[in-house]
Amino acid sequence: MSESTLRIGLVLPDVMGTYGDGGNALVLRQRARMRGIEAEIVQITLDDDVPDSLDVYTLGGAEDFAQRLATRHLTKHAGMQRAAAAGRPVLAICAAIQVLGHWYETAAGERVDGVGLFDATTSPMAERAIGELVTAPLVDGLSQPLTGFENHRGATSLGADARPLGTVRHGTGNALGGGVEGVVQGSVLGTYMHGPLLARNPELADYLLAQATGAPLAPLELPEVDRLRRERLAAAR
Ligand code: GLN
Repeated sequence: MSESTLRIGLVLPDVMGTYGDGGNALVLRQRARMRGIEAEIVQITLDDDVPDSLDVYTLGGAEDFAQRLATRHLTKHAGMQRAAAAGRPVLAICAAIQVLGHWYETAAGERVDGVGLFDATTSPMAERAIGELVTAPLVDGLSQPLTGFENHRGATSLGADARPLGTVRHGTGNALGGGVEGVVQGSVLGTYMHGPLLARNPELADYLLAQATGAPLAPLELPEVDRLRRERLAAAR
């Protein structure tokens, strides 16, 4: 953490933030504050430059047109890419995976160049993947199943420099029949899970917070969060 206040970037909520994905930034801020860490959310809109000085960045999902506006903005204002190169954590949900890849093809068949933080490409699937998604994480430091809600038409393929975030137990994940979900490359993590993701997966929230603060975190006992997890995991059976 660069200063005494943890600064959480909510990147382009004006165009990327379907299904309440902005809640991921709220969860990070709340879990930091509950441990006595001062934290604030910095909203970056299409009117703003993207600073490279934030401690963690979050991006939400979007429809195809909004996704294109975001891609253009992030390509022109490359602060987040510089922060990622310096090891700052970045969380990308759904369309944001596609935007951060090399390119994605829209449902209308147009290919759009992405930001290139992920060695990944996305093309339309035969059918839309919608529903509860549960995975087993493949990342050191995460042991709890990940739960979320997927709704995407894009099928993402990973190149050699990217790894999946988890193996699919329920739902589709990156592509029909592929058996894997999400992307991890350096400090940048992507997933198709809405929920919002971090409200359902406190272990992952703390994983990102620990990276952002550079220090281990005291555990938090929140029975209502555990209850939400149990409910959501039961819904995916
Ligand atoms: N437009 C993208 C797709 O359908 C992403 C959708 C989303 O973010 N919910 O694949």
